[in-house]
Parts: sequence; structure tokens; C-alpha cells
Amino acid sequence: ARFVNVQKSYDGVELVVKDFNLDINKGEFITLLGPSGSGKTTCLMMMAGFETPTHGQILLKGQPINDLPPHKRGIGMVFQNYALFPHMTVAENLAFPLEVRHYTKEQINKSVARALAMVRLEDFGDRRPAQLSGGQQQRVALARALVFEPDLVLMDEPLGALDKNLREEMQYEIKRIHASLGVTMIYVTHDQSEALTMSDRIAVFNDGVVQQLADPQTLYESPANAFVAYFIGENN
Ligand code: ATP
Repeated sequence: ARFVNVQKSYDGVELVVKDFNLDINKGEFITLLGPSGSGKTTCLMMMAGFETPTHGQILLKGQPINDLPPHKRGIGMVFQNYALFPHMTVAENLAFPLEVRHYTKEQINKSVARALAMVRLEDFGDRRPAQLSGGQQQRVALARALVFEPDLVLMDEPLGALDKNLREEMQYEIKRIHASLGVTMIYVTHDQSEALTMSDRIAVFNDGVVQQLADPQTLYESPANAFVAYFIGENN
């Protein structure tokens, strides 16, 4: 996945993403880190296809996809609020993206069972989202993003609503799943320690501009400027 000279303005005037370039390696865990309003979510939404760049190109497997609608991109997505369908059971929530893709009943059952096992919710297929804890709902959202075996998964502050212990447990779970599937992940957070723990590389955003793109150790030891030093240093 790749962003080439991407700019985004919502009002036609102010650029909230100014000139974003990022070439993501297959299987990489990339984090977009930065304060609220710095443009991270906007970048994720452009990759997902929910927003169109004002300028520049989004590429997937080398192909420009600016005009491709979200459901044709083959990208899995986890939202902060989980966005589960409340009237459907867990199993039905997971089956939905497969039905849209015209999987057979047999393929659906197999894929749903595998995705539930991946997030350790084998026994929860018949529950509705409201009958689950926040952490369990988060696992369902993760399973739903993975159920059709996408090459790329996008996560927007997926752990933002969880308490500290659960957040740490889920960081570990997401990393375990990332390692076992070899899937490429783009992760958005404003939490430095989360980014430092989980990522292969981190793009540090401020005001729509990437201040530094580097691996966690380099960011920590050799921040490119005062903003990165301050932001990475916070809470540490
Ligand atoms: P947060 O962590 O708070 O979500 P962020 O870094 O993800 O912040 P964005 O959500 O990308 O930042 O927002 C960047 C800027 O774009 C903000 O100033 C925001 O107000 C503006 N913005 C985001 N979405 C829209 C929209 N749909 N219409 C107009 N302006 C928007």
C-alpha cells in the first residue's frame, strides 16, 4: 500500500493532510501517530475509500485505487466504536462481509469459525453485541475485519475505549494475530507508548505533515525535531 503526494482538504481551502508520502511494505505494522486533529484518520479513510484525496494517488499492490469504492478494495477495517450490527449475532456480523462477497454457506461457516477462534471467541457466536463486554466487542470487530483474509487491515484507535489492562492485553493479541497471519496493518493512535510497543515503523503527524518516519528505537533515540522529541517523550 502506498500514498503518493497525497493532500486532503475538506472545505476546498485548508489542507488537513499536506503532502503525505508513505510506501508500506508487505506484512508491515505501520502506525500513524499524532495529536488529535493532525490528519491521521483522514489518511486512513482515504486508504479505506471513504474519503477521496484532493491531490495525489493512493495505490494498492501498485495499482492506483483513488476511484475504487471501499468494498472493492479488499481492505479490512476496525473502527474505534467497533461499528458492529446490533441486531445481528456475533456469527452473523462475521458472515456479513462474506455474504457480500458471495461466499458459499459452507465457506462462510468455515471462515467464521476460523475468525472466531483467532480472537478466542469460539463460544460467543450466538450472542448479540450488547451481550458482550467492551473487550469482547473489540475482538469481534477485529475478527470481522480479518474474516475475508484481507492483505491489508486498517485500525482507527481500536483500543481507545478500553481500560488500561484490557488495552495492554489487546495490544498483545493484535500483535499475535499480525505475526501469525503476516497481514499488513495500518494503525492509528495518539498514544505514544502503544505506537512504540506495536509498530515496525511510525509516522509522526503534526498539523497534516509527517514530522518523522522511523522505527520506534530511532524515534526514541534520535527524534528529528522538537515536536517529535516532545510528543514521543510524553508519558514516558
Ligand atoms: P483524531 O485523533 O482526533 O481523530 P486525527 O489526527 O485523526 O484526529 P483527522 O480526524 O484526520 O485527525 O482530522 C484532521 C482535520 O480534519 C481536523 O481539523 C478535523 O476537524 C478535520 N476533519 C476531519 N474530518 C472532517 C470532515 N468529514 N469534514 C470536515 N473536516 C473534517
